[in-house]
Order: sequence, then structure tokens, then C-alpha cells
Amino acid sequence: MPIVTQVSLLKHRRTKIIATIGPASDKPQTIRQLIQAGVNVFRLNMSHGDYDFHREAYQHTRAISKELNEVVAILADLCGPKIRTGKFKNNEITLTSGNQVIVTTRDVLGEDGLIPSQYRPLASDVQSGDRMLLSDGTMELRVNDIEDTEILCTVIHGGILTNHKGINLPGVQVSAPSLTEKDIEDAQFALDLGVDYLALSFVRRAADIEDLKKLIRDKGATAAIIAKIEKSEALDDANNILDVTDAIMVARGDLGVELQPEEVPVAQSQLINLARQKFKPTIVATQMLESMIEHARPTRAEVTDISNAVTQGTDAVMLSAETAAGFYPVEAVKIMDRIIRQTEAHLWQSGAYASNVKTIQQTPIPIWDAMANAVDNMTHNLGAKAILVMSQSGMSVASMVSTRPAAPVVAITGNEQVCRRVALLWSVIPILKKETGRANPNRLARKVALELELAEKGKYVLLVRGFHSNDEMNTPTMTALMV
Ligand code: PEP
Repeated sequence: MPIVTQVSLLKHRRTKIIATIGPASDKPQTIRQLIQAGVNVFRLNMSHGDYDFHREAYQHTRAISKELNEVVAILADLCGPKIRTGKFKNNEITLTSGNQVIVTTRDVLGEDGLIPSQYRPLASDVQSGDRMLLSDGTMELRVNDIEDTEILCTVIHGGILTNHKGINLPGVQVSAPSLTEKDIEDAQFALDLGVDYLALSFVRRAADIEDLKKLIRDKGATAAIIAKIEKSEALDDANNILDVTDAIMVARGDLGVELQPEEVPVAQSQLINLARQKFKPTIVATQMLESMIEHARPTRAEVTDISNAVTQGTDAVMLSAETAAGFYPVEAVKIMDRIIRQTEAHLWQSGAYASNVKTIQQTPIPIWDAMANAVDNMTHNLGAKAILVMSQSGMSVASMVSTRPAAPVVAITGNEQVCRRVALLWSVIPILKKETGRANPNRLARKVALELELAEKGKYVLLVRGFHSNDEMNTPTMTALMV
């Protein structure tokens, strides 16, 4: 059989693209180009930039997406308890392998042989024998002894250490709270802006998510939560975290420092599968097109990495410094879009999306899964061109995409924030229809299918509605409609 690489692309890309806004992408014309290139969600990274920067980026994004009539969500990424080095007298020091060095929690400027950190409990959190990884794990220290605020270490792998670099402590139970004071302030600020998602870094257990949920609830806000999985403790508690969070991010940067690098692809694949079973979207993040920070074309390995994430069925892939600080932010999104489309076309043509029903050992299976299976089967059998889901909270939409059906899923909702939130979900085309709930549902579904040019006359689409989180009011139905 010949190898066919030329496939006809699907009209609607299934895997979503997240772009981080930074100094390389905050200008209105760049935000416009990024949306036109295919960004579905923008990330405001609270580790960088001040409130004025984020407020302006937020306002530009909302105004431009409205003007372009594109549904784009915004997520604010909270730093979490990230431990960092302080500042150095000459902005950097050289660490030489085999030398002794002191890490101190005193409020001093660093110099040769002395690394400051503002994380006060550091000296009580670590023990002799622990590893301290610096600057994304590129340098390593081993703890020999602790004397009050001073941690005496040997440099195992040296290098040049600059100001404010991350410190990772693999296997150490860090005592810092999951929501730092800065996170609480940043979350209040982001919720006041009106972001659709809050991402929390360095989540360790499900309770960390509950703390953020409470903060959102107390504020009367409705933003959804993304748990960033970047610590081994979070992998251990992944089941419980997925039960309480709205989405997860496989934050491969820090995860690759906390774990052995070869463990990351396996964790990624397992997290995507587990999240799909629980109707929670997954974002695969970090270094997806790292070389494009400086170069106009990606490496072959980066292209393959994105293609693999798409094949594994992730909901979204994310760009970080590529769009925040790189030379080619718009090109990076365009290339990401092309890679995704090519892989999805191949998956579609090879039948990977057709009749992907979930097999759950014990029957009866939950109604949400049973409906997702039924809709997936019906789409396959009828060759339906679209699945239109009328949704109030987005939950039914998430359950419908969990089988990765062959036809695109259209979320029709009357709620603006739900509409933007579901923009993150695999395949979902979000449509805001204020008349949802009052209009004749069949007529509305046919109208939307025609407006979006999803189906021509004589073809079937499926309409799904009637889901409710209250069991007694949960009366899901599926209707086959000929357009
Ligand atoms: C990561 O560590 O992979 C990540 C996404 O987090 P951040 O970009 O906030 O460091």
C-alpha cells in the first residue's frame, strides 16, 4: 500500500490552540492576526507582566474577538507556590560542578557561592540528601547540611545562574500553601476583569482546587478552573483532582523537571485518557514549538510532538514563549494550525473518529456515557454532518465530545461565558443564541447547521438536549434532523 501524505483537510479544526500573550503579542494588530490564524484561547501569564499589561491585553482581546465575531476564551494562569532564586549582585553567578554553595533564605543579594531565595520555609522543607534543581532543571545541587537559614550544598551540574530562576525540589513535601498571597490578589484581579478560566500552578492535591473554587464562589464569579499537573504528587492524586477541576493542563516544563524526562510522554497520554473518561478537557503545554522563539520554521521533532498530542486526543495544545516573547508569534500559530489539520485529516480518513464508543466493563453505564455512545454510533451510522448540543452549563457538550465523534460538535447556549468556555473543548464550535430555551429547538438546530454550512439539504444532523445535573430533571434526548 502506498504511503499517502496528501489528505483533504477538515473544514473545522478539532484540536484547539492556546496562545500566551506577552510583549511579542500584546499589540491589537498582533492579537487580531493571532485570532485570524486560529487562536481559540489566550493565556495571561501572571508570572510575568503587571496588572496594566494584563488589563490592556484582556480589553484588546475582548474587543477584537467581538469585532471579528469569533468566540475566544481568556485564561489567567496563577503562579502557585513556585520557588525562585532571588537577585544577584551582577545579575548572575557561575556554578561550578563539584564546588560548595550556600542557598540562603536571608534577604540578601546573591554572589559567587551564595544563592538567595525569598521562600522562607525552604531551609525547613529540605533535608540532607535532597536534590535542588535550578532554572528548569538545567543545574543541580545536592543538600549536604542545613544550619538555620543556610542550606549547604554541593553543585552536581553547574552552569550560569541568573536572577529569579525557578527552584524545583523533586520528592520534597513543600509546605507552601497552594494559593499564595500573590495568587489570591492575582485571582481577584483576573476575576474582576472577567476571565473565563483560572489556571492554578503546582497543584498537589484535590483540596488545592477546592480552595480556589471557594475564592471564586465567594466573589460571586463563575470562572472555570484548570489544574496544572506539574508535580508527582498531582499524578498520584490525578483521579481526585479530575473529579473537582474543570480542566487540566499537562504542564510539561515543570513536570519534566519533577519527573524523569522519559516519564513525561507516558504521563501525558495517561492524563489525556483519564480526563476524557471524566469529561474534562486537557491542554498539552510547553516547548511545543520552542525553536520558533528564534526561528521561522519548527524542528521535525516539534512537529511530531504536536501531531502525537493530536493523535492522543488532547483537547488543546498551548504555545508559551513562542507567542509571548518570540520573533514569530503569528507564524507559530499558523504552523500549529497546519500540523493539527494535517494529522486530523489523516485520523478522520483512517476512521479513527468513527464509532469510538466507550467500553465500560459494568453495565448499566452512567446516562451521560450512554448518550455519548448513542450519539457517536448514530453519527457514524447516519453519516450525520454535525452534532448540535443545546447546553446551559457546557457539561453535556463535554460528555458528547468524550468519544471524539466523527462530526463536529456545535454548542448552542444562551450563556456568554459558557459559550467562551466551551471554545477550549475538542471540536466544539461555540454559538451564542440568546433565544435558546424559547425557540423551537428543531428549527433553531437546522438554522444553525445551515448558517455554519455544516450540512446541505438532504443530509442529517443530530440534535442533543435535555441534559440536567439534577438526576430527576435529566431527560436527555437525541433527534435526527434532515436539513
Ligand atoms: C509548565 O511548567 O509547563 C507550564 C505550563 O507552566 P508555566 O508556563 O507557567 O511555567
